[in-house]
Amino acid sequence: MQIAKLFWGLFFLCLATCASAEAVNVAPGMQPTALTPSLRLLEDKSAELDFSRIQTPAVQARLQPWNKSSANFGFTRSAYWAAFTLRNSTDKAVPLVIRQDYPLIDYLDFWGQDDSGAWQKIATGDRLPFASRPLALRDFVFPVTLPAHSERTYYLRYATQGSLNIGLSVSSETAFLPQLNLEQLLLGIYYGGFLVLVIYNLFLFLAMRDTAYVYYMGYAISYGLYFGVHNGVSFQFVWPGSPWFGNHSLIVLLGLSLIFATQFARVVCAGRQLAPRTDCVARWLLYGMIALTAIAPLFSYGITILVFSMLTLVVCALLLGMGTISVLRGSISARYFMVAWITLLSSVIVYMLKTFGLLPHNGFTQNAFQGGALIEMVLLSLALGARVGEIQKLGYTDELSRLYNRRYFDEQLPREFNLAASSGTPLSLLVLDLDHFKAINDRYGHRHGDLAIRAVGELILKKVRKPMLACRYGGEEFAILLPRTKGEQAAVLAERLVQRVAELDCHGMPLTISIGVASFEGGNFDAAVQLFEAADAALYRAKQAGRNRVLVEVVGDVVLEPA
Ligand code: GH3
Ligand code: MG
Ligand code: MG
Repeated sequence: MQIAKLFWGLFFLCLATCASAEAVNVAPGMQPTALTPSLRLLEDKSAELDFSRIQTPAVQARLQPWNKSSANFGFTRSAYWAAFTLRNSTDKAVPLVIRQDYPLIDYLDFWGQDDSGAWQKIATGDRLPFASRPLALRDFVFPVTLPAHSERTYYLRYATQGSLNIGLSVSSETAFLPQLNLEQLLLGIYYGGFLVLVIYNLFLFLAMRDTAYVYYMGYAISYGLYFGVHNGVSFQFVWPGSPWFGNHSLIVLLGLSLIFATQFARVVCAGRQLAPRTDCVARWLLYGMIALTAIAPLFSYGITILVFSMLTLVVCALLLGMGTISVLRGSISARYFMVAWITLLSSVIVYMLKTFGLLPHNGFTQNAFQGGALIEMVLLSLALGARVGEIQKLGYTDELSRLYNRRYFDEQLPREFNLAASSGTPLSLLVLDLDHFKAINDRYGHRHGDLAIRAVGELILKKVRKPMLACRYGGEEFAILLPRTKGEQAAVLAERLVQRVAELDCHGMPLTISIGVASFEGGNFDAAVQLFEAADAALYRAKQAGRNRVLVEVVGDVVLEPA
């Protein structure tokens, strides 16, 4: 019996010795060195092995030398054990760091021997609070000291729901710190770029109140944080105490990025006007993505990553299509959008080709995706600028009232009319005119008259939200287009405006307006001009009826509404 035990013991010891990979020699000042080719690995399919069993000769024999430069196992239910041996042949103890450079590992346990020979375990991973790490760094970094003339073996256990990438390296503490310093600087520049873009566009938004900036900021923030999750900095700096969110954040942030990117594209490419059918698909896709992003945390990562990868492909194709149509129909901002989008896709392709080994693994290919994303953000910011430029250059804004001008109205009225006619939705129109304005001018002077026009313009700007569209039609007349709005709803807004103008305190001038309302519903008009004439006629009658009131024209039948 004893002999049999001895035999098997020797047999396994021999196996273990044969299987052992080369020890890695360390020295003071050692530069970062990949440990992956020197690892011994064991796949624990049941994920049930514990450290005491790992040390038994039978299990030791199953730790096979890996001999490859990378160790990526994709999505797996197995736990992986990694062992490596370090040898210090010098006369001095060497302080070292062992680094796992892929930070999205759910559970990562590390074992090393202390000077008394006792095994010390460090349990960390991104399912545990950030504070579980021996060093507060975005990657998992384990400091160890190897005494002079010694050899030690270290063990790590990996278990994760996401992609299982083992990327271990060792370096001396003195070489690690400058390297870390440089990395932090580069990351700071990278995320600083995102931050600058967000702040810059926030100011532009405050000045212009254009929702396109909100979508841009939403996209930049979620995309920036998404890369932050990949690099481990989001967990380190943004939600260090919340591993639960940290683990769902990747999908949620991907979902948010897709949502904001789609919405941004719809606005910048003027999808509704220039590519209405693609825009309609984008809108439904948007609803779907909002729902999926909201429920994503309830499902396992393996399922959601699959769904969102598909969604990413669909969104990419759709936005490329929308951008192309808009460019062909003359949009300048869509040109910037396309350049931005193509830059991002090219960088993704470079990264993929590297992943599949068709391009060399170097600093450029490794960081192409992240770099491409930041360049995309800069170009999209230019697209926003171009959009504003487009609107201003064509002179769509009225300087005095800050509303759209007559030219814009003349373009939008037939466009909205046709949209309403083809989609079968109602379209209402308000025509407003200041009452007795000649008398105001005469009594207070034209400068004050201008102030009154500006005050009414500001009030309209406050009350009118997209998709409504307000413009100064001419002199002291305004027009407001209300897509997808019925006559009754339009009349409610008109009544409110009449009331608010009467309450305005503008240098003591007694201001009132009259409003004519007409609605295109159920094909009651054949052309946009008829709708305008109907509203204008209603306005005329409101004036006749005593001013300071709303009158609704119902398909040629005039109904008087009390002011
Ligand atoms: P009603 O309400 O019945 O229409 O009377 P009204 O005096 O307002 O008559 P109407 O609309 O025909 O007159 C418009 C006047 O508005 C003519 C002009 O003196 C004045 N006006 C037009 N454009 C401007 C402008 O840009 N600034 C100023 N201060 N006055 C303007
Ligand atoms: Mg007038
Ligand atoms: Mg007037």
